[in-house]
Amino acid sequence: MRGVYVLIIQIDKDVSMNVGALGKLTFEKGLYAYVGSAQVNLEQRIKRHFGKEKRLFWHIDYLLDDSLARIVKVLYKQANRSEECEIAKAISERGEPAAGFGCSDCSCKSHLFRIGDYRFLQESMRVLHAET
Ligand SMILES: [Zn+2]
Repeated sequence: MRGVYVLIIQIDKDVSMNVGALGKLTFEKGLYAYVGSAQVNLEQRIKRHFGKEKRLFWHIDYLLDDSLARIVKVLYKQANRSEECEIAKAISERGEPAAGFGCSDCSCKSHLFRIGDYRFLQESMRVLHAET
């Protein structure tokens, strides 16, 4: 399946970390939404985000490599890549962007946002994984 996904990430404590080329970023404790897409094998891509032993390639890999960050939910939707940025835009209206994160190849401000809740996303996307 090809599609767009949103990882809902909980960060348990304020934390500073190196995020590849972005350098050192500080994340406040809270809930975050990261938007990504996969043009082939969406399931594999999402599974990769849960793996701990992997080469750090995308910005999100650096964030999820930190033990204070964990994925609490995954939302997804069958869609073309263009929708990835539309969803990022929709989240940006309700969240605080981490400038430059995950958007090296598009013109968005960010693909990672600190959010209050993600209920508004559940109206248009399906749940793939929820932490129990
Ligand atoms: Zn974008």
